Parts: sequence; C-alpha cells; structure tokens
Amino acid sequence: MKIGIVGCAGRMGRMLSTTVLETVGAKLAGGTERQGNPSIGEDLGTLVGSQRLGVPVGDDPSALFAATDAVIDFTTPAATIAHAQLARESGTALVVGTTGLSDADMAVLAEAGNRTAVVHAGNMSLGVNLLVGLVKLVAGALGPDYDIEVVEMHHKHKIDAPSGTALMFGKAAAAGRDINHEAVALMSREGETGARPEGAIGYAALRGGDVIGEHSVIFAGPGECIELTHKATDRALFAKGAVHATLWTEGRAPGLYTMRNVLGLD
Ligand code: NAD
Repeated sequence: MKIGIVGCAGRMGRMLSTTVLETVGAKLAGGTERQGNPSIGEDLGTLVGSQRLGVPVGDDPSALFAATDAVIDFTTPAATIAHAQLARESGTALVVGTTGLSDADMAVLAEAGNRTAVVHAGNMSLGVNLLVGLVKLVAGALGPDYDIEVVEMHHKHKIDAPSGTALMFGKAAAAGRDINHEAVALMSREGETGARPEGAIGYAALRGGDVIGEHSVIFAGPGECIELTHKATDRALFAKGAVHATLWTEGRAPGLYTMRNVLGLD
C-alpha cells in the first residue's frame, strides 16, 4: 500500500514515516510539510534518520493524494480539513490523528467519509481504546452518586486542551450514563466556582516536560474512589496504531470510522 504522510517533519510525522518504512506491506510514497518549513526539498528517508529514499519532502498535498492509496494526517485542525477535502476529491483513504477538531471540522471529515474510508481517533492506542469501553461500562454501573473527573498530562508543546483522549473518555462516561456530554462537561475551574454541579463531568489539564500522555478517569463516590489510568510511554505506540488503521482501510467501504471500529471493539 502506497502511504503518504502530511506534516512529515512533525513529532508524530517523523515517527509515522519511520513506522511505515518498518511495516511489511506498506510503502512510504511521499510526505508534505507546511509551506516555508525548512524540511521541504530534503530527502524524506534521511529526514527521519533512515536511508535515502529519493523522495523529497513536498509542499503540494494534492499531488500526494493523487500518488498514494492512503494518507496519514497528524497536523493541525486547519490543515486536516484541507486534507479531508482532498481525500473527498481524490478518493484516497485518510487516517486522522489530529486533535482539537470542532464539530464543523468533524462534519468535513464525515463528508470525506461519503467518498472514501476515513479513520479518525484522538488516540490510536489499543490500551486507550479498550479503556474507553471500560469507562462507559463503569459510568453506567455506578450511577450519578459518583462524580466523574478526567485528568490528563502532556508535554509542554501540546497546543490544545483538554486532550482529544480526555474528551474520548468524558464522552464515553456520558454515553455510559445516557446523558448529553456537552450539557454536563466542565472544562475548567477558577475563582469562586461554587459547589460542584450535580452530574458534571469535570476536566483538568496539566502541561509540562516531555510527558507523552497520561490520563485518569476518577469516579469519586461516597466513601470510595475508583481510578482508571492509562500512561503512554512511547510515541511509537500511536504511530503503530495509525499505520495498522491505514492498512485496515484497504478495500474498505467509504465511511467515517473510529479506532474502535479498526480494533473490532464496536
Ligand atoms: P507537531 O507540531 O510536532 O507536528 C505537526 C506538523 O504538522 C508540523 O511539522 C507542522 O509543520 C505540520 N503542518 C502544519 N500544517 C501543515 C500543512 N498545512 N501541511 C503539511 N504539514 C503541516 O505536533 P505533533 O506532536 O506531531 O502532533 C500533531 C497532532 O497529532 C496534534 O493534534 C496532536 O494532538 C495529535 N496526536 C494524536 C495522537 C493520536 O493517537 N491520535 C497521538 C499524538 C499526537
């Protein structure tokens, strides 16, 4: 399968390129970067610390979509929606790990999903996607006496909060309770907040150092606390999940899929 990486010089872009190079059945067919990025014109193989590929980093995503079977996108929301439009036009499969997407951005992904296979997940790890199911189950079993708080920590370069994974957990908890997430989500607290609103799902985001990603969902009830925690210790985990999802799109009917679909958990 010919795979292209948009944002190939980013933290995840480099990891994804390396993972594609190491994956049997996958061919690293090209990569793009944002116009003006110093890596443009550099050899994609040497950029990611591997052998020369003879494929220079480009800045024309439409050429990349035309030349590949699937594209992996871990960039920014603005770049991702432009790439989703190219996926819709070209029919090239698209795997998106970008977080911080709005409902309007997700609608653009869904439109691309009418034409081709699109996978989107705020977290591509098996562990997190298993835990999403567990959070839903626990939230449903415990009921409203147990206050739900989602706490996450990431490296200091992360540009959005709360993390896409934290939101996946919060939404799973709301689904387990059969309530509307937007109506109960409490994204931050400051000053005289008053008592905790009944039924809220609270979020707290910590930033610092080079933490790859840590998440806890806390169920604080009368006389006890239950905590479900996931800690990522290697960014390659997400890249392996994304490349697995990309191979999974081969021959797949058009649609907007999640990582839980890819892993057969839904
Ligand atoms: P990063 O800033 O290191 O990399 C993003 C790259 O995208 C940069 O190199 C940037 O130049 C490039 N880019 C921006 N606009 C572009 C455009 N129009 N065309 C081509 N390239 C463009 O960030 P990162 O740490 O690699 O994270 C990227 C995204 O992936 C974030 O949204 C992050 O939250 C998300 N992420 C998701 C998962 C997951 O499992 N789903 C895991 C880790 C990170």
